[in-house]
Amino acid sequence: MSDLDSLILLLSKLPGLGPRSARRAALHLVKRRETLMQPLAETMLRAAERIRACSTCGNLDTEDPCALCRDPRRDQQLICVVEDVADLWAIERSAAFRGTYHVLGGTLSALEGVGPEDLRIEGLLARAVPPKVREVILALNATVEGQTTAHYITDRLAGSGVAVSRLAHGVPVGGELDYLDEGTLSAALAQRRPL
Ligand SMILES: [Zn+2]
Repeated sequence: MSDLDSLILLLSKLPGLGPRSARRAALHLVKRRETLMQPLAETMLRAAERIRACSTCGNLDTEDPCALCRDPRRDQQLICVVEDVADLWAIERSAAFRGTYHVLGGTLSALEGVGPEDLRIEGLLARAVPPKVREVILALNATVEGQTTAHYITDRLAGSGVAVSRLAHGVPVGGELDYLDEGTLSAALAQRRPL
């Protein structure tokens, strides 16, 4: 396979890029070899070496603990639990939350064989201890798996002394946080319900 073919093949594996758009992207890169292709390659190499999951919250950063966990201006007593880093980014874009996060890395799914041990649940239980933490907000997607996971975490936190809440309605069923507009997300956070 030629270098160009393998470039196209690799690009076609990116989300949203089929073979056709991968060919266009490859051509675009080759035509902008110095202004785009080389800086992109260097940035990707550096990112691949340096970006890692925060050992506290699971967020992606080049430092561990991540910038959000290290930030003294954030309310460390508040943990917002999300499925994926994309959800964390969505909530950060809304600027409605000034606590910390916990990224589970997925949801429980009997169908796909995902159990509690496959997610960052033990790490969450270890963090969610009063008085260091007073509230856990479950910002999980309104899918069956998201809600199953929310129930599981609520059960596990029962009796811990930490308040558990979930996002208010307004999050569409089956909808993903990442697709919500910032206003909807802010409202869902502000009107969160205790569990
Ligand atoms: Zn972190």
